[in-house]
Amino acid sequence: MLIKNYPIETIKAILTESKEKTAVDYSPKNGGVCPLCGQKKCSIKNVGKWSGSVRERYHSCFQCNHSFKSVEMDS
Ligand SMILES: [Zn+2]
Repeated sequence: MLIKNYPIETIKAILTESKEKTAVDYSPKNGGVCPLCGQKKCSIKNVGKWSGSVRERYHSCFQCNHSFKSVEMDS
């Protein structure tokens, strides 16, 4: 495995980046739930338009300050 040759800082940076880009499911009951600390109904910074049956929202956690994206699927 080549990943062994990367310094730990690089691996951490990659993991943090992929975490930030991962979208969580938007829950009609709990809103956007912070993927880091589990805070429910995080404040919504931006609501995207419906793209097909998917809508994205951008949240900022008021507990840990983490910014993340949620995805709502039309069912
Ligand atoms: Zn949080």
